[in-house]
Amino acid sequence: MQASDPKKTATHLPQGSSASPSTDLNGLDGLDGLDGLRPRPSAAAVEATRRALNGVLKDTQIVTDADALEVYATDWSSAGAFPPDLVVKAESTSDVVHVLQIANTHGVPVTPRGLGTGKAGGALPLAGGIVLSLERMSRLIEINPADMVAVVEPGLITGDLMSAVEDVGLFYPPDPNSFAICSIGGNVACNAGGPRALKYGVTRPYVLGLQVVLPTGERIEVGARTLKHVAGYDLTGLIVGSEGTLGVITEITLRLVPKPGAVETALVTFKDTHAASLAITRVFGAGVLPRTLEFLDHHALSAIRAKTPGRFPENAGALLILETDGPSHERAFEDLSRAAEVCSDQGALDVLVAQDEMQRTRIWEPRRVLSMTLTESAPHKISEDIVVPRSAIATFLERVYALSTDNDVRVATYGHAGDGNLHVNVLFDDAHKQAADRTVAAIMAIAVELRGTISGEHGVGLLKRAFMPLEHAPPVLALQRRLKKTLDPQDILNPGKILPLRGVTE
Ligand SMILES: Cc1cc2nc3c(=O)[nH]c(=O)nc-3n(C[C@H](O)[C@H](O)[C@H](O)COP(=O)(O)OP(=O)(O)OC[C@H]3O[C@@H](n4cnc5c(N)ncnc54)[C@H](O)[C@@H]3O)c2cc1C
Repeated sequence: MQASDPKKTATHLPQGSSASPSTDLNGLDGLDGLDGLRPRPSAAAVEATRRALNGVLKDTQIVTDADALEVYATDWSSAGAFPPDLVVKAESTSDVVHVLQIANTHGVPVTPRGLGTGKAGGALPLAGGIVLSLERMSRLIEINPADMVAVVEPGLITGDLMSAVEDVGLFYPPDPNSFAICSIGGNVACNAGGPRALKYGVTRPYVLGLQVVLPTGERIEVGARTLKHVAGYDLTGLIVGSEGTLGVITEITLRLVPKPGAVETALVTFKDTHAASLAITRVFGAGVLPRTLEFLDHHALSAIRAKTPGRFPENAGALLILETDGPSHERAFEDLSRAAEVCSDQGALDVLVAQDEMQRTRIWEPRRVLSMTLTESAPHKISEDIVVPRSAIATFLERVYALSTDNDVRVATYGHAGDGNLHVNVLFDDAHKQAADRTVAAIMAIAVELRGTISGEHGVGLLKRAFMPLEHAPPVLALQRRLKKTLDPQDILNPGKILPLRGVTE
C-alpha cells in the first residue's frame, strides 16, 4: 500500500532532463532551491540501468509506466512532485545490493522509500533516478518473548507490528500517529516519535541492531540483539534518523517491553492556550510521568469541531489529552487523578475520563486524523514539528500567534506538548504564499532561539534543509557533509536531503 496525499498532483519531468522544481513547491521556493543538486541522469544512463536491473530482478519488480511512477513522485509533505525514472520494488536484501551496485556503475541516484507518509519530503527523488521501494519487504521475521525482541523487515506496517507484539503480552511503544499507514523502516530512518514518546522515548532506543546496505552496495550488520552493547562506535545510532541518506535498512532488531496492564485516558479542557500551557509544565511537578500529554490549540479545535460537531465542549479554547498507564487500573487511575488535580488547580474547565475503549477511541480519533483535517481546511498547509523546552511553550505560542496576525495567515498548533514537540501548521491560500514562507522561517528561528530544534520527529528531508544552519554551526555541518561523503562518495543515495546545498564550507 502506498500513502499518497490526494491533494498533490504529479508533474512529469522528461527522462534525462536536468532537475528543475515543479511549480507547486510550497514551503521550498524562496527558502532554498535546487542549485548544487546533482543533475538528473541522462536517458542513456537510465536505459543502461534498466537493462542491468532486468538481468537480476523480475519484470514485476521494475516499474517504468508513467502513471505508476506518479504515485512515487509525491509523499505527505507539501514539497511538490518529483517523478523518478524507475521504481524498483525490492523483495530481499540481495535485491537492494544489486540496485545500489548497478546505480553506482551508471551514476544513477537511488531514493529509498517506505510507505510515503513522510512530511519533510525525504522520500522524494529530487534528482530523478530510482525510487527503491521497500514496501514488499514486510515480513515479521520473529518475536522472541524470552529475549524481548522482534526482528522485522522494513516494509512492515508499524501498526501491524504493534498488534502482533501486543498479542503475546509485549509492547512496542513508539506510536507515530501514522502508525496504520507508515512502515517501521520509515520510522527507523526518521527516528519517529509519537504521543507515547513522553514516557517511553522515540524510536532510536528501541533499535538494537540493523542490517543495512551502504550507498556503495556493501551489506553490513550493526548493533546487537542484546540490550547492552558498547563495543565500537554506535553505527546503529548513526543510521537511525539518517533519513535514507547513509544506507538502506533491510532488517531491524527491535527491543520490546512488557505490555502495560491498564491505560486511563482523560480529556482536559481549558478556557485558553495559556492556561493549558501552564498546566503542561506543572503536571510533572506532581511526580507523575503521563504516557501522553497531547495539546490542541483553539485553531486546531475549530477544525475538528467543523468536522465532528458536538465531539468537544464548545467552551473549550484549548485541550489536553492526558493518558497514564501502569500494571493495574488502580495504579493508572491514581496517576491520572493526580495529574488531573494539577490541571484543575491551573483552571481546567473540565476533566472527562474515558469509561471504556469506545470513549477512549472517541477522544483519540480526531487527534489521530487532525493532520488530514487541517490539510482539508485550507488550499495549502505547511506543517512543522519544532520542539521547545516545556517551560518555553507559552512564550513560543504567544510569538507564533503574533506572527500569524502580522503575516495574515492562519496558524493551528497541536502536538506532543508533554515533550515540547509542537506541530505548527501554517494554512494559507495562493495569495499568501510568501507570507506563509516568512512565517515558517520565523517559526524555525523562534524555536531555536528558545533553545529548541527545527524538527522533533518528521526529519529534515528536503523542506527543512535550508534551516539546518540555524541550529548547526558551520564546522558541525561540514563534519556531517564529510561523513556523508565517506559513506557515499558518488552522492548516489538520496541526494539533496538533510544538508543545505549551499553555504556550507567543506
Ligand atoms: C497523518 C500523519 C501523521 C503523522 N504522525 C507522525 C507522528 O506522530 N510522529 C512521527 O514521527 N511522524 C509522523 N508522521 C510522519 C511519517 O509517518 C513518519 O515520518 C514515518 O516514519 C514515515 O514512514 P514511511 O514508511 O511512510 O516513510 P517514507 O515517507 O517512505 O520515507 C521517509 C524517509 O525515510 C527513508 N526511508 C524509508 N524507508 C527506508 C529504509 N528501509 N531504509 C532507509 N531509508 C528509508 C526515506 O528515504 C525518507 O527519507 C505522520 C504522517 C502522517 C501522514
